[in-house]
Amino acid sequence: MGRLDGKVALISGGARGQGAAEALLFASEGAKVVIADILDEDGRKLEAQIAELGGDAAYTHLDVTSAAEWDAAVQTAVDRYGRLDILVNNAGILLRKGLEETSVDEWDRVLDVNAKGVFLGTKAAIPALRAAGGGSIVNISSIAGLIGSRNATAAYQSSKGAVRLLTKSTAVQYARDNIRCNSVHPGMIVTAMPEEILADPEIEQDYYDRIPLGRLGNVDDIANGVLFLASDDASFVTGSELVIDGGLVAQ
Ligand code: NAD
Repeated sequence: MGRLDGKVALISGGARGQGAAEALLFASEGAKVVIADILDEDGRKLEAQIAELGGDAAYTHLDVTSAAEWDAAVQTAVDRYGRLDILVNNAGILLRKGLEETSVDEWDRVLDVNAKGVFLGTKAAIPALRAAGGGSIVNISSIAGLIGSRNATAAYQSSKGAVRLLTKSTAVQYARDNIRCNSVHPGMIVTAMPEEILADPEIEQDYYDRIPLGRLGNVDDIANGVLFLASDDASFVTGSELVIDGGLVAQ
């Protein structure tokens, strides 16, 4: 028996990286998964890979900054699988620029994708989650949404801080609809996103030195935490923040 048997999940930014790991894990735990992203080729490949593994997934194009595309993505879940139980707001972009170097357009773009995208996704999904009798929303923030950082600055940190509090606001507002909402705060996870940061051997070594568990994270470290929050194992968990960072921000 899978931990997500009978459930339908929608994962934004699900075509690669952490989102793809979550799609694969959710499908292996019995969920039907809508993979939503702007990377159509990667998304379709993942849809086929999940089918080959005996799972059930559907790829749909979604730019998380578009309210209309969010409505269509939720409708895809309802039309194809009859319901929606889980939303993972995972899509995100990184901008490594100090405050003075960040243009107004760059600020708006990062806040649009990382923060407004979560607002729009939550807004679009709530009616379907309510219709299903409740559900779970997992918002991917970052340790950059908890503490200051030299590598993820100004706009990115502000966007991830917004996700942290939007999560608690959603959790409190929709608890009586049996809709839970929690945030996940990954540390340094090896994906395409921090490739540029890790390309500098000094910075990479600095992470190894500072992370108490002595290694970088991988996509499965995050997917396992997201699975817990998405599943009924976390039925009394809402408004919480799960830090998955090898102990980096514990010190
Ligand atoms: P990634 O770049 O591999 O994945 C991000 C995904 O989001 C991609 O599939 C991308 O196409 C998608 N995306 C970007 N803009 C989009 C848009 N407008 N609409 C729809 N999809 C869009 O990186 P990742 O590490 O897998 O990132 C996943 C999440 O984890 C992000 O929210 C990121 O900020 C967060 N995070 C990553 C790390 C890390 O070290 N990798 C650390 C903390 C938080």
